[in-house]
Amino acid sequence: MDDHKQITDFDLKLIAEFFKEMPRQGPGGTRQTLQALDLVGELPPDARIVDMGCGTGKQTADLAAHTPGHITAVDFLPEMIAGLDARMRSLGLSDKVTGLVGSMGDPLFEPRSLDLIWAEGSIYNVGFEAGLRKWHEFLKPGGFVAVTETTLLLNEKPDDGGYIDTYFPEIDSIAGKVETMQCAGYQPTAHFILPPECWTENYYAPLAARVDTFSRQYGHYPAARELVESMKKEQPHYRQYGQYYGYVFYIGRKIG
Ligand code: SAH
Repeated sequence: MDDHKQITDFDLKLIAEFFKEMPRQGPGGTRQTLQALDLVGELPPDARIVDMGCGTGKQTADLAAHTPGHITAVDFLPEMIAGLDARMRSLGLSDKVTGLVGSMGDPLFEPRSLDLIWAEGSIYNVGFEAGLRKWHEFLKPGGFVAVTETTLLLNEKPDDGGYIDTYFPEIDSIAGKVETMQCAGYQPTAHFILPPECWTENYYAPLAARVDTFSRQYGHYPAARELVESMKKEQPHYRQYGQYYGYVFYIGRKIG
């Protein structure tokens, strides 16, 4: 999406309409969600968990099936929370997960009240560093964050006409992100790179199919055509330059 133009309510509705029909709203995978959860370690029976920028909750469902306690799943688009609620109902997980329409930049939770804050493909919306700093106060001492973030995987950026700089302005090396996490008050306990199929099979394949159906339904709106054009640029860029960047799962523990 083009961050440099004013996003109107109509644009937001279209974005919601586009993404709510996708199985997940960003690159990821069940195996990787569970791998990260494993790295967090054992949670207390009454664990309070928050999934920030949950979308329609693919990863929320995976977490819910493998964690004790209760999950609050937050997204600022009501359409995503409606999709999450429907998913949880269909999986019999409604008692375990509460959907909340809200902004992940807002003080939504009591200080020192949470055991785990999860965010797949979403922290960049408030900023990696800003998000980690903001969420720190919500966590109990010893609580965990687990987030995915776009990261440079080689020691140089490709000559891609400034695409990476435009779309991933906070991009940094793994070492840089780990340091940022430390500066934000966490002990970086683990990290791993998500494999390419989290992008290609799990995200871009359904995205290409969604581009087709969405274009047929909404292509008469110029704003919808613009959205589709920006969506269509992503996949070829990843196909050409995907060895340079990817998502890394970062797990950190609040100390003190
Ligand atoms: N975690 C999901 C969705 C990732 S897409 C997945 O991996 O599939 C990012 C999500 O963050 C979108 O659903 C978007 O609506 C939400 N989002 C973006 N900015 C937000 C904000 N400031 N507060 C809450 N949610 C936000």
